[in-house]
Amino acid sequence: MDFYSRLGLRPVINVNGTMTSLGASIVAPPVIEAVASILPQFVEIDDLQRKASAAIARACGSEGGYVTASCSAAITLGIAATMTGDDAGLIERLPDTSGMRNEVVIQTGHLVNYGAPIDQAIRLAGARVVPVGAATEAHGYQLASTITERTTAALYVVSHHTVQFGLIQVEEFIAEAHARGVPVIVDAASEYDLTRFIAAGADLVLYSAHKFLGGLTAGIVAGRKTLVRAAYFQNGGIGRGMKVGKEGIAGAIAALEQWQHRDHAAARARERGYLDLWIAGLSGRPGIRAETDADPTGNPLDRLKLSIDPRNARISAWDLADALSHPPAGSMPVIVRDHEAELNFFFIDPCNLHPGQEHVVLERLLAELERAQRAPEPLITPFYQRDARRLSGRRNWPD
Ligand SMILES: *Cc1c(COP(=O)(O)O)cnc(C)c1O
Repeated sequence: MDFYSRLGLRPVINVNGTMTSLGASIVAPPVIEAVASILPQFVEIDDLQRKASAAIARACGSEGGYVTASCSAAITLGIAATMTGDDAGLIERLPDTSGMRNEVVIQTGHLVNYGAPIDQAIRLAGARVVPVGAATEAHGYQLASTITERTTAALYVVSHHTVQFGLIQVEEFIAEAHARGVPVIVDAASEYDLTRFIAAGADLVLYSAHKFLGGLTAGIVAGRKTLVRAAYFQNGGIGRGMKVGKEGIAGAIAALEQWQHRDHAAARARERGYLDLWIAGLSGRPGIRAETDADPTGNPLDRLKLSIDPRNARISAWDLADALSHPPAGSMPVIVRDHEAELNFFFIDPCNLHPGQEHVVLERLLAELERAQRAPEPLITPFYQRDARRLSGRRNWPD
């Protein structure tokens, strides 16, 4: 708690998920230990990355792997690897891709923004984005006819950010790309399952070390050795500005190890307890429906889905989310998962809480719901104004 008062910051409660904007995740104690022990020492980075390759291979079932700055960096460098191979001349030429295959096919419904647009992570390498299909519908034949002799890679995104229906499933996506000799890169930044996409035949699979794994901020690249090597060698080119230090590499190794030994059942039971507490505490509140909701991409976790009927609750889902994140003095901000709030619901994610915070979350929710009941007028602002309000709140940063 000490750094909060030292820097004059306020603590926040994160029931949104593993968000970069909130400090990613609670770094696991074995990771903190591993990082603290390497920080004062020198180490040959090629050797440390060799150990990371072995740790990633064990955890993911891949031929090899390496650690980079972030999953976003891994997308850029993975794409670069497919264009340059291990040719140092080509690596230094990027992002000028003249004379190279440079088209990346990706489903339109996968063109997400995870804090920055994914298509920009592709274009950063000098590649060109070629969308496949419509936003909510794509077919294998469309992928097949989009692949040409200029195609360097096919990128597949697994995320709650993507459209969750009507698109090409990963098995068919890999089959169509491989039938045309095109490598497949899977962005699985926030997925629990470390082996599934390698087992399905993906050439590179990318994870964030700082999300559910509880590592330091870093990206994990797993895959075929030749491609992993070509991605690693980008550190002598465009990857230089995306480099990871010894602490990030050691952190990722430790995170993968602790993840494999973590008591996942106990974590699930603890989260279940939080969900039960919240559902019981919210039951009978006017205009509120609280239920558990399974993770959309199949991660083994449930969240609380809070549906809000604004007439009876006398507050909209987005105004409630904003009230929770901008509390009166003396209360902690509670940041909920509200990317779908215009549909009159938001989620409360139980995975990133310190013991006891589950009660604060419930108290704050009940306090805001009661305030709304007592207010002379319902608090239902037009949703379309919310974005402008948020942007204007940041315009004068750092003031
Ligand atoms: C978080 C995320 C990223 C970016 O990961 P970083 O490691 O934070 O750069 C990329 N893709 C998806 C699907 C994500 O959820």
